[in-house]
Amino acid sequence: MYTLREMRILIVSDVHANFVALEAVLRHVEHGGAIDGLWNLGDSVGYGPQPSECIARLRELGEVSVVGNHDLAAAGAMGTTEFNPDAATAAKWTAERLSPDEKSFLAGLPQVLSPPDLSLKAGASESGEEFTLVHGTLREPVWEYLYSYEAAAAHLRLQRSPYSLVGHTHVPALVVEDQRLPRGCELFRIEDGHSVPLGGHKLVINPGSVGQPRDGNPLAACAVYDTTEATVTLHRVEYDIRATQELMEEAGLPRWLIERLSVGR
Ligand code: ZN
Repeated sequence: MYTLREMRILIVSDVHANFVALEAVLRHVEHGGAIDGLWNLGDSVGYGPQPSECIARLRELGEVSVVGNHDLAAAGAMGTTEFNPDAATAAKWTAERLSPDEKSFLAGLPQVLSPPDLSLKAGASESGEEFTLVHGTLREPVWEYLYSYEAAAAHLRLQRSPYSLVGHTHVPALVVEDQRLPRGCELFRIEDGHSVPLGGHKLVINPGSVGQPRDGNPLAACAVYDTTEATVTLHRVEYDIRATQELMEEAGLPRWLIERLSVGR
């Protein structure tokens, strides 16, 4: 056994090229103390107006990241036939703007990061021993939404570590394994300031989306893993939504993608 060094790790997902939101999240979280690492659950690009800025910033903060469906589409590593028309338009727009280096970076990200690989990555160190990172679910790493009890239970059966972190739904959530229940687990929504204590049960945590929240709350969402307290805490952060929307208008991105940022849908 060893004692964990005191660390604060920022967990982000679905940044979706919303650089204004990403910067606001970083400022907000750093206000509470230094950040020792960043874990990214994928979809850094797609939908938003500043893909290259987001990739550069996220790489600067460490490359502990799994890949999302929008990352693969923008990198040309996956078609967009399963995307809705607005998402496909945004993916095409993004692909035209990314450099070959940015595309190969995205296409080269793993679908799943679990111990011991996560611990070996820069910034993760010993704190990564207990977590698995995946964009969707462990059954369908890039595509499946972890919304239902059935998907949650299937994911938990494949989860070898005590905790896992998922994104993709853009809705902050917590799954607690409970073998006494017929469905095997309990599903909760989590709100701003909610601290999830680690220990006891197998857990799945979704930190929501930085760049395109869909839970009816337009504020950017992220989470902070505090190794000393052994908690993962959800944060909702105000940002200049109008600034991102103006950049999207200039870029000619689809109307609904611009409007949904105001309503968090
Ligand atoms: Zn997404």
